This record gives sequence, structure tokens and C-alpha cells, in this order.
Amino acid sequence: MSIMSDAKSGIPEIAREVAIRENIPAERIARGLASGRIVIPSNPRHSPTPTGVGEGLHVKVNVNLGTSEDCSAIDEELEKARTAVRFGADTIMDLSTGGDIDSIRRRILKEVKVPVGSVPIYQAGLEFARKSAVVDMTEDHIFKGIETHVRDGIDFITVHCGVTRESVESLKNSGRLTGVVSRGGSFLTAWILHNGKENPLYANYDYLLEIAKEHEVTLSLGDGYRPGCIADATDAPQIKELITLGECVKRAREAGVQSMVEGPGHVPMHQIEANVKLEKSICDGAPFYVLGPLVTDIAPGYDHITGAIGGAIAASCGADFLCDVSPSEHLCLPTVDDIRVATIASKIAAHVGDISRGMSMDRDNVISRARAELDWESQFAHCLDPEHARARRNERRPGKGDEDVCSMCGKYCAIKLTNEYLKKK
Ligand code: SF4
Repeated sequence: MSIMSDAKSGIPEIAREVAIRENIPAERIARGLASGRIVIPSNPRHSPTPTGVGEGLHVKVNVNLGTSEDCSAIDEELEKARTAVRFGADTIMDLSTGGDIDSIRRRILKEVKVPVGSVPIYQAGLEFARKSAVVDMTEDHIFKGIETHVRDGIDFITVHCGVTRESVESLKNSGRLTGVVSRGGSFLTAWILHNGKENPLYANYDYLLEIAKEHEVTLSLGDGYRPGCIADATDAPQIKELITLGECVKRAREAGVQSMVEGPGHVPMHQIEANVKLEKSICDGAPFYVLGPLVTDIAPGYDHITGAIGGAIAASCGADFLCDVSPSEHLCLPTVDDIRVATIASKIAAHVGDISRGMSMDRDNVISRARAELDWESQFAHCLDPEHARARRNERRPGKGDEDVCSMCGKYCAIKLTNEYLKKK
């Protein structure tokens, strides 16, 4: 049995818990699970807070963290995980590639109660890269790595099943500006070209489904050929991969395995809606998990903004799950403060998407009312980052005892003036 197959014959307990959090009927969650349009990544070995992703639910935010060969301080990664959850991350992905990767993953799983994802092929590739070359990975090693991650309790795994011999051919003829920017996608492209064989994750997809079903792990079907710049968006390799992922979604559903689909990447604003619609159509409504998307390539250091713009549009068009993009994207491994800023930027994008999808604006209204009443404490209490908002206000106090206004207009405070005269009427 699995969450998905349980939902075909009734309402699993986990669906009831998600229904309470989403404030919608449990039957709707169960129907979404049974059809594959909703997933609840939840490996029983981790047993995270029940979190639903998909049709009709609030847009969720994932935050990426993890070590690199150059920066592998585990305490810093744990602090990043705590920071992300504190600012509202719904899930965390551990993308560690440096230091003791097994131990980092296990510590993160212990540290957070939100669902945790990983990309097992990173570890398989790196272990071979340290000895000889990534292309020497064996199929056995790739699958053993997946089993290790899921036995540790990882709730969802990125698997780049759509990078196939056929899509490699399409890539070769594509004339892309930035080639392949997905690490997993690059490992598998190099492996296919070097070994002249099919991607083991695609060739042995039934075996992958068996592992996923046994451990109740959700497949996040990775976008190895996501565009790495807006010029490459929505091109042939990306769409060819998406068509294969649509086939993988269908087979996962038949096997009772939960699956979602990862998407771009870098996409100019006017192509975002088409990207969401294509995924929803080709993958029959499978939850869509997008990285950003970044809507321009001119802002290194500010890609939390380019990503949040794209994320808000994608969410308003139907994307279900946003991956954070930090200000350090394309430049370096994020710091703890980058994670704070990135989480908040993605939360804003997700909330903007929720509003445009007709979800509650109650929190906005509470803050607006407090703003109209010059009630600063209530504004701080309900905003995304109270500490930051309070510190900014305190940076430039208006002084002269007029503490109810702020230093923007001081004694010419429009709200105060209007309130005074409206009360006189
Ligand atoms: S001083 Fe100006 S910016 Fe500040 S609360 Fe009043 S109207 Fe708003």
C-alpha cells in the first residue's frame, strides 16, 4: 500500500491532516492524491509535518541548502535549515556535495520537521569523481545511493529520468547559449555520451518505482535540460525532456508512486504561462515545481528578485511549488542571511500567487488595517519578517515625541492627518 493507493479506496489520515492545514475538505485532498494531481511527500522514516503540494492547495516554497567542496561546515548548513523553516520554508532540499554528505543529510533530517528532499545522483557522481571520473558511475552505485537516501528518511528525491539518449541528441543540435546547467543533468549527459548507453534512471525506471513505492518516497522528476538563460527557454531539449517526464508521471501513477515535475529555470516573463500550461497538459496536471523562474539574466547578486518575479507569475498561472533562488545564485554558496532573504522572496512570490488564485487575503487585510491605524506592533506581528521591519523603523525614528508616524513624512503623515479630520466629522 501507499499514500496514493490508500487514497483510491478512502481518505488516508495524512490527507485529513493536510486538509486541516489547507482549510479544504479532506475528500478533495484524497481525490487529488488518487489522481496524482496532489502529492504529500512523507517518508515514514522521517514522518514530517504533512505538507500537500498540487492542485487547489496553497503554493509551497522549497529552500535549497547544502555544502560544497569549498564550504562544508555542517553547523552553518543546520543554521540555514533552521533559518529557512523559521521564515516559512515548507520543505528543504539538501544538495550537499562537500564534506561527509551522509552525515550532513542525517543531521538535517533530524533537525527539521518539514519534508526533506535530496538529489542522490550528486553523491554517486562525486564519489566516482573523487576516485576517477563521474562517467565511471555504475548503475548499481546509482541505485544503491538512492536506497541510502530513502532509507535515511528522505521524503522526495530528484531523479533526472528525462535525460535520455534521444534528448542528448536534441541538445547537441540545439545551439544553446548555456548548454546544461543542472548538475544532475550534466552528470547523466556525460555518462550517456561516454558509455553509449541509456540513462540508468530511465532504462530501469520500473526498479526506481519499486524502491519509491517500498519506501513511500515521492519522485521529483528533475529537469536536467532546464534552460540556463532566457535565450534557451522553451527550446527543443527542454520540451523533449518534458514529454519523457509526462510518460514517467503516467507510469508512476500506475505503480501507485507519487510524482511531481520540476521545471525551469530561466524563462522570460511572456513565456511563463505557456511553460506552466505545457507541463500541466503533457503531465496531466502533475504538481509543477519551478526553480524561480528567473525572468532576466542581468542581475547577479539580485536573483532572489528575478526569481520572485518569475515565481509569482508562475504561481498565478498554476505552478504549485516554488524553489527559492538566493542572492548568491550564479556567484557562490549562500550564507545564512542569503537563505533568510531567499526564503522571504519566495514566500512573497507564493503568497502573491495564492492571492491571484483566489485564496485568502486576510493577512494582507490585517496589516492594512494596522497600517491605517498607525498600529506598528500589529504590523510587525503579522508581517513576514518582524525583526527586520522593526529594525528598519527604528533606524530613523521621527523624534520630537511623534512616535505614531514614521520618518517618511513625519508631521505631514497623510494617514494621521486624514484620520484626525475624519474623526471630527
Ligand atoms: S509618515 Fe507617511 S509613510 Fe509613514 S505612516 Fe504616515 S503616511 Fe505612511
